[in-house]
Amino acid sequence: MLDVLLVKLNYEPVLSAEREFDLGTAYLAAALRRQGFTVEIIDASLEELSFSQTAARIVNSPAKIIGLSIWLHRLVAYGERLIAQLRRAGVTSHITVGSHSPTFLYAELLRANGGLDSVVCGEGEWTLLELTERVCQGAPWTDIAGLAVRSGEDGGVRLQVRPAVCELDELPPPALDYLPHIKKRGQFMSILTSRGCYGKCTFCSTNPFYRTGGGKPWRAHSPERVLSEIQALHAQGIRHFGWRDDNFIGPGRTGKERARRIAELILAAQLKISFYIACRVDDVDRELFALLKAAGLRQVFLGVESLSARRLAAFNKLVTVEENIAAMQVLGGLEIPYTLGYIMLSPDTTWAEYRESSTRLAEAQRIVPGAERGLQDAFSAVEVLPGTAIAEELRNAKLLRGDHRGYTYIFLDVRVRLLHNAITMLRTLTRPLARVLAEAVRKEARREMRETK
Ligand code: SF4
Repeated sequence: MLDVLLVKLNYEPVLSAEREFDLGTAYLAAALRRQGFTVEIIDASLEELSFSQTAARIVNSPAKIIGLSIWLHRLVAYGERLIAQLRRAGVTSHITVGSHSPTFLYAELLRANGGLDSVVCGEGEWTLLELTERVCQGAPWTDIAGLAVRSGEDGGVRLQVRPAVCELDELPPPALDYLPHIKKRGQFMSILTSRGCYGKCTFCSTNPFYRTGGGKPWRAHSPERVLSEIQALHAQGIRHFGWRDDNFIGPGRTGKERARRIAELILAAQLKISFYIACRVDDVDRELFALLKAAGLRQVFLGVESLSARRLAAFNKLVTVEENIAAMQVLGGLEIPYTLGYIMLSPDTTWAEYRESSTRLAEAQRIVPGAERGLQDAFSAVEVLPGTAIAEELRNAKLLRGDHRGYTYIFLDVRVRLLHNAITMLRTLTRPLARVLAEAVRKEARREMRETK
């Protein structure tokens, strides 16, 4: 008999190059197995399983608990359809869901889906462990902290907050069930050196998610633990890593010291590896990044978001246009390739702000090394996610449309709206070609990254 089946849902438009080792289910499985529970993982995304293939695999599983990872907001409707399908097929196991969107939408999910038993809110390791213990013992499970459940007959929902996982080193290293799959495909191996972010950008759910259980919004593995995970994977033949932290560097001097120590440990261990990171612009420091490059840093995702001072203020980015440019110049000067996180359009973007942002970006692309290649989408529009300040602002202003399955909004400036509509129409017409081109560009970038090592 299997205790828990964890399923990472597939999202079909995700490009194959973006299908990465899933750390969410891997951390959960490891925490459960350490306590002696039997766990299987289905990564429907990595295996590129269709809806019916995923449903069939779950229906045939003897697991007592089925945990679905709704890791993208766009997967909420897909997850709901899957739960209904499983119940129709006669599945009687406990079904729970988790990840960012369910954490903020637990009430809507429980009210809309009679087949859903519970929602794991926030970081799931200890909550899922307690749920598994109770279900396996046949004990009541509706009073578990961190688990949202129905209460009473009137559509009520209850959630008792569980404290955050403050000491990440207490968690066992993630389960490596899909490592052979990654190796066979010659892909990068994802690891996590920290969780969360100290930034409070209005469009981002990272900080609210990691503050669900209180404690610091950014928490990290020790440098020694990071090194030991890398060494264990290196011994298995892995050379290329994606450090999937929301913000690798972390706050202030402590964050930079930790990053420095990790680089020093990798160099001292003489590991020939390459890796990429994501960070804020105000964490980019020439000396630190030169050291990280020596340790194997080959790509940075840089959260620039805008080169309009008013847009940066509206996003609560807490950096200046000049800091954005300076960070790009440091990375360009060190010849570290970078991708720009950039939001050109949001509901209250004025035509003047759009013009300012696109003009300054064009200027930066002309003078800053690497900036031209860093932009992925010149007309990117903000995605409104549950739990974010921007979702709340739009809701209060009665500008938020849709429901928990997906939010939309209208652009207040008519010229911005027309521009967005025109781009959307063009993209719909050229999507198949764009997908092929984007895939080719990504493959090329990753090939370059491997070859520069
Ligand atoms: S800096 Fe990045 S990860 Fe941090 S809150 Fe802002 S967008 Fe989110």
